[in-house]
Amino acid sequence: MESLSAGWKTKNKTGAGRFLALALCLLASPSWAASHSRTVSLAPAQVFQGGIVRITVSGEDLEEVGGFLQNRSIAFFPAQAGVYFALLGVDLEQKPGALEITVRSKSKDKEKWERSVLLRIKKKAFAREELTVPPSFDRIDEAARKRIEKEQETLDRLWALATPRRLWDGGFLQPLPGGISSPFGLRRVINGYPRSPHGGVDLKASLGAEVRAANHGRVVLREEFFFSGKSIVLDHGGGLFTMYFHLSDFAVEQEGLVRKGDVIGRAGMSGRVTGPHLHWGARLNGARVDPFELLGATGNGQ
Ligand SMILES: [Zn+2]
Repeated sequence: MESLSAGWKTKNKTGAGRFLALALCLLASPSWAASHSRTVSLAPAQVFQGGIVRITVSGEDLEEVGGFLQNRSIAFFPAQAGVYFALLGVDLEQKPGALEITVRSKSKDKEKWERSVLLRIKKKAFAREELTVPPSFDRIDEAARKRIEKEQETLDRLWALATPRRLWDGGFLQPLPGGISSPFGLRRVINGYPRSPHGGVDLKASLGAEVRAANHGRVVLREEFFFSGKSIVLDHGGGLFTMYFHLSDFAVEQEGLVRKGDVIGRAGMSGRVTGPHLHWGARLNGARVDPFELLGATGNGQ
């Protein structure tokens, strides 16, 4: 795992001071060591489309830390004394290149501090699949189209929810033990037309298999949708959600709080699918990320 570290101290908030600091920052190599103990580090320093990056901010006297990426705020959490961290998702269709992340903090004596770091996004070679199906297989009538639009709006509203409190803790669990039947990011081309990429992972599951919460969270969606069938979305706080689709049964109520490992439903084949499986997805800061990336993420600052 690569890590990019740089530190920057700003006592002087005048224009000249800021300019000088910025100039120093631009001149500095990524491994430039700060005279002060405040640092912002990204791990990994380069991330693939659909990946997750951990941002760590450290400084002895830090009190409040916040950040944003392209007008979306990034939630930071205290890890240990003088260390804050955030997880940032990179959407699977994010253009490769550099993204600027801005981190702001306040010290105990109310001194403000701001730092921008560049995150490099690398192109990922997602799997591709071409299918030919009878045109009737794919036909959607007007009523279904309206229903799909409404359901999409419901989901989009969820991703905009900003629950600042972090409910998740420690590593995430795979919701059931099955292997992958359809990978994250798969590009499907049906009858010559490219579809939106697969926003989650399909896990092999037998009908009725127990589906468990990947981490602590709140049930913010428990509904039957056209494509995703019986669907559950868990809000883990701090802009992180996981979703569980095509269930045969629900075992939780809307707005219920769940603990990591709790059975939340049973696998099935509801919605538009050809066989039983679990579609497991994750959203982080609005980005569609590979849920398997969460398995290594921990909330204890390690
Ligand atoms: Zn799927």
